[in-house]
Order: sequence, then structure tokens, then C-alpha cells
Amino acid sequence: MYGWKNLLDEDRRAILEGIRTGEASGGPFHAEFDLIDSCNCQCIFCSYRHCMNGKSFPWEILKSLVKDLCRDGLRSVRIYGGGEPSMYPHFADFCALLGDNGIVLEDLTTNGILLGDLLPSLLNLKIDHVMLSLNYSNPEDHSRFMRSPRGSFQRVIHNIQSLADGLESRGNRQETLIHIHFFLHKSTVSHFTEMLDLSRKMPVDLVTIRSIGEIPEEEQIQPWQIKPLLRTIQREVKALPIGFPLELDLSSIGEQTFSDNLLAAHRRIQVDQIAPLRSISYCYTPWYNMTILPGGETFPCCFLDHTPGILSCGNAFEKPVQDIWNGKEFQRTRYEHRLSYIMEQKTPFQARRFRKTLPCCWNSGSCPLSYLMADPDFYMAAQDILHKLRNRPMTSLLRRLNRWSRPVIEGVKKCL
Ligand code: SF4
Ligand code: SF4
Repeated sequence: MYGWKNLLDEDRRAILEGIRTGEASGGPFHAEFDLIDSCNCQCIFCSYRHCMNGKSFPWEILKSLVKDLCRDGLRSVRIYGGGEPSMYPHFADFCALLGDNGIVLEDLTTNGILLGDLLPSLLNLKIDHVMLSLNYSNPEDHSRFMRSPRGSFQRVIHNIQSLADGLESRGNRQETLIHIHFFLHKSTVSHFTEMLDLSRKMPVDLVTIRSIGEIPEEEQIQPWQIKPLLRTIQREVKALPIGFPLELDLSSIGEQTFSDNLLAAHRRIQVDQIAPLRSISYCYTPWYNMTILPGGETFPCCFLDHTPGILSCGNAFEKPVQDIWNGKEFQRTRYEHRLSYIMEQKTPFQARRFRKTLPCCWNSGSCPLSYLMADPDFYMAAQDILHKLRNRPMTSLLRRLNRWSRPVIEGVKKCL
């Protein structure tokens, strides 16, 4: 998960204990801050469009929240949208606050347009990962689909170079992964080669090219475009140096197996090494992370914060963080996650009974963030705990019954 590598051994043990008992045994160890709900672009695919209300985190409250979280064991922070974080008026103060408390900025997700202005404050921090949503391979697409201000595309390219140079000059270039991201949709499927060419010219450590499903209908990839796209991808990947750091996400067009196989063959590794933990990479976010929005609402992750129907776990401006973390709503989230993992899809889940999770939370490897779940020792230890829970006599009986009959979920709860 985001920032997982900054956990201490004792934090991992606390999370495992939480999985065993169903409660939180420490934390939150990681926090995601949506600092501001406004942006300098208007992307046609923006999943936060409906939340762009101009709200921003009140600085004094943010300061005291970070202090409370540090006291409770916070190790790292992610800054993401909502809106574009670089537009937050107290961005520099926030970086200084993280630095003063020894907190790692494990991820900054940004469109990169204002990144140059942020560098003096950012470069004083320990930064694990900067995700740059460049999304397009030329200025025309950038301005057409992101409705970005004039000159933005070139500015982002320039800022990426300045970021790499700044890190280099401070001697910590190796610590920070610079990650660039592109989208494929109807008008850009033919730009796959251009995206790779551009990436090769930039000082980046990881390139993700993703087919995007969440986009207006007129920009959805058409069935007739898929075969030519796959042929192009095949040709281009074969021509890449073996170590080229490319990730392909073609799940929205049902071609993830194709891309996994292609990359595995190219790297001369087994396909299960592309995503080695997919079958056991359940999401333990509710024992680990708190996502906090500019109005104080809290969620277990950045996906659930803008999913219609998923309600906040409590408002951090109104209650102490620990009351929310150990409160009824976070507990409910943990319960739904844990129940689905123990039952291992043998329960024909009824979505209406699950109010804190999504179908992608119930099955290992199906969350869009599952590529971040990459700690083999931890997942093996968690699997061991789940195995013991599944083998308890009543649970085992219910698991068997649930294969044949419609379960009463709340009845199951009492036995877990
Ligand atoms: S840059 Fe990000 S936050 Fe801004 S409009 Fe685009 S997708 Fe939304
Ligand atoms: S599995 Fe669910 S809770 Fe976990 S990161 Fe994905 S959407 Fe969030």
C-alpha cells in the first residue's frame, strides 16, 4: 500500500493483530490528505468533478491534526487530489510541518503544472514517490482533454526535469521514484508509441500507461480499436530494453492478462512474478490508513472518499482522530473487509448489506490499488491468520453451508 515500506516491524505486528481480532491495534500509521478541492485543469475524466467545491483544509486545524496523528504513530503521508494539491495556499507550511515531525512524504500525486513553484519546500523532505499525471503525449491532447492552461504541457516536462535535477543536487535522487502516467482512450489509442518515446526522453523511473474506463462515452475505446492497439503494444514492448520500467493497465478493456503475459515474456520471467501476490493481496487499509478531506470527513482510502453511497467514518474537525479510528464506522469497515476475506467469496454477497466497501474490496487482487500491495512476508503472515479463523468450527461450518444456501450475513457476524 501507499507508504507501507515506512512501517516499523511493531506496526506490522499491530496490523496483523488487528486482522486477528477485527479491531484496530494501533495507528493510523499512514494518512492521506486531500488538501484542496479545486484544480487548474478540468479533465474530462476527473472522478472528483462533483466534489470541486473550492474547499481547502483550514491550516490551524491541519496543524493540530498532524500533531495528533504523529502522537498516535503516523509514519508517512500522502498528498493527493480531490483537487490539485499544489494549489493549496499553505503547501510550503505543510511540507515544513512534515519535515519538523520526521514524517515521510511517501506520495505526491500532481498534474505537475505548478510543481516548479513547490520544489524549494518539497526538496527539504524525504520523498518516496511523485506521481505525475501528465496523461498525454503532446500539448494538443493535454489542453483538449485536461482543459489545462496554455503552455502547461511544456511546463510539466520542464518541471519533471527540475525535480530530477533538484533531487540530484541534494544527493537523494535515488530515494525518490519519479512516476509518469498516461491515459489511453478513443482519441489517444494511436499515441501509444508517442507516449513511450516521450517517456524515454524524461528522467523518470516508472511509466504507467493505462486504458481508462471512467470517461465520457464518446471517448471510450471502441471494440474495433482494441486489436490494432494490442498489435502496437506488442511491437513496442518487444523493442524496449528488458529493464524498461513500464507498467500496463489494460483492465478496463479486459486485456490485463494479455499485458501481464507480454511483459512477463519480455522480461523473461514467469507471469505470476508480474503480480506475485494477487491471489492473497487482500486490502488491509482500514487497519492502516485514514484519508481526510478538506471538510474533515474521513474514509479508509482515496477510492471510497468519492464513491456515491459510501458515507464518511466521522469528521476529524469534530472528534479526536482516535475516536474516529476506533469508532463504529471504521469498525464497520473492518468488519466488512474481514468477513469477506474469511468467507473467501463463498458468500454470495448482497451489496445492499455492505455499506462501507465495494465489490473490489471483497476479492484479493481486484482493487485498482492492489498493485501497491507488495509485502510477501506480511501477506503470508496475514494469510496464516485468516486460515486459522476460517478453520474455527463454526466458521468452517458456515463457509460450507454458504456454498449451498443463501447466507444471513448478520448471523455470520456473531460467529467470527
Ligand atoms: S488534474 Fe486531477 S484533480 Fe485536476 S481536473 Fe484533472 S483529474 Fe481532476
Ligand atoms: S480494496 Fe477497497 S478499501 Fe482497499 S484500497 Fe481498494 S477500494 Fe480502498
